[in-house]
Amino acid sequence: MMKKQFAVIGMGRFGTSVAKTLSGLGFEVLAIDSSEQRTQEVASIVTHVVQADSTDEDALRALGLRNFDVVVVAIGEDIQASILTTIILKEIGAPKVVVKAQDELHGKVVRKVGADKVIYPERDMGQRVAHHLISSNIIDYIELSDDHSIVEIKATRSMVGKSLRQLDIRAKYGCNVMGIKSGAHIDIAPHAEDLIQANDVLIVVGKNDDLTNFEKTFAE
Ligand code: ATP
Repeated sequence: MMKKQFAVIGMGRFGTSVAKTLSGLGFEVLAIDSSEQRTQEVASIVTHVVQADSTDEDALRALGLRNFDVVVVAIGEDIQASILTTIILKEIGAPKVVVKAQDELHGKVVRKVGADKVIYPERDMGQRVAHHLISSNIIDYIELSDDHSIVEIKATRSMVGKSLRQLDIRAKYGCNVMGIKSGAHIDIAPHAEDLIQANDVLIVVGKNDDLTNFEKTFAE
């Protein structure tokens, strides 16, 4: 299987982190930034770095960006540049364009002009931190849609030694336990009679309101 090819436009903190992680995982990454200083700074981190203005259609064509599997647009502040870049990328045929958005409006606009995926790193991280603050038992929180999420919650004392049937989470809270992590092992099809052990982590999916109720009940 051919390895995926990635390009990241905008070497701010976010773009640099994406490029660096992909590189570290052994993928080829083309990093693009209009600033000479930025391109020099990341030259030691990623395989290929090019100084170019991504609002210049000819430049993007010349770089062959339509041949990359994924192009990440990580320009935050200059929203106009982010939108233009997205339009050009879709026009030249880039198959998957992922855009980092500052806010909902920015996100809506880039969606309209063809972004295949929009990400909101600050908003998402803020939500994760907030959920972790509600309870140190909440390890992670992933939004699936506006209405549904997944939370990873450490088994509380009140859960330990009880079975899923006894806890009756589905009926009481309307949420589903889709997996249980015990150390390195993950049981992705837990049985109703399985007993929750100390240090287990429950992976729970549900409607946001239901999950909030569930989280609050088990906050310690
Ligand atoms: P951070 O991830 O640090 O929060 P940010 O969202 O504030 O970043 P910016 O600092 O606005 O993003 O931009 C990130 C990078 O994008 C900068 O290094 C900037 O030089 C680059 N950039 C901005 N406009 C363009 C463009 N038209 N073409 C290429 N690179 C650009």
